Amino acid sequence: MPEGRQIPHHGEAIVLRTWPFHEADLLISLFTRDQGKVKGVARHAMKSRRRFGGALEPATQVRAHYTERPRQELVRFDQFEILWSPLTAPVDTLRLAALQLVTEVLEEAMPDLAADDNIYRLAVTVLTSIHSGTSSAPSSTKVSPQESGCPTSGFSDVGSHNVQGPQQIYLPVTYFCLWMNRLMGWMPELGHCSACGLDLRSQTVYWSPTADGVTCFDDRRATSASQASRALSASSVSESHRIARTPLADLLTEPWPPARSADLRAFAIATLERHLERRLRSATVLIA
Ligand SMILES: [Zn+2]
Repeated sequence: MPEGRQIPHHGEAIVLRTWPFHEADLLISLFTRDQGKVKGVARHAMKSRRRFGGALEPATQVRAHYTERPRQELVRFDQFEILWSPLTAPVDTLRLAALQLVTEVLEEAMPDLAADDNIYRLAVTVLTSIHSGTSSAPSSTKVSPQESGCPTSGFSDVGSHNVQGPQQIYLPVTYFCLWMNRLMGWMPELGHCSACGLDLRSQTVYWSPTADGVTCFDDRRATSASQASRALSASSVSESHRIARTPLADLLTEPWPPARSADLRAFAIATLERHLERRLRSATVLIA
């Protein structure tokens, strides 16, 4: 690239986080489809509703217009257009936590300037599926057309279903965390004991927040309370296999109350936290 040249970009992105910057500017972290995570400055963002109005809420999917500048680490954000906004549906504590979990994990897990189309589509599919729930709406969810042959074929393109209906919090969260672990290469093999090699298929397995892999009952860690192994039931292991091969829209036709596969959700979140080496603030209300 010739020195001194500005490079314009126009593409889909998810707003991850914003920070006040100087007087009326904002520092923004954006997960773009084409370039991965990009950080930059939106000048006068607090005042310019024309260029950014309503598009700066974390989890908003936008078409972003920005400019890479020579010898500058931060890009210059010129304008965002909203493609999908989380604010078009009611936001309660649980929905907010679920939306934040997605943006928090992307912010922590994704390196700068590393595009990942599977993770981008996963995030859009999950974000647009998270609903607080409405009492008078129909209970069906729209199934988006799928490609075939790709393990992530269930991830729809551009927020396609913004339907009202029953509460959809726990399944999208579990689905997102399991798929993030898989796509990042962090998902342990659940079929065998990592200590003795015992075949654990169709059995309860044990996992520790401080160790790799899962074990049989005899090899579980029984040290201090915070490090002790926790059980993942055979039925939850089987749900994790279903989640790996079933589009989210299909799974959402079933009821997912908080207790359903709660142990799987806790396992998926703890696996993310162990690899990110930090606790996920937004996960606290979602594990209960
Ligand atoms: Zn064992």
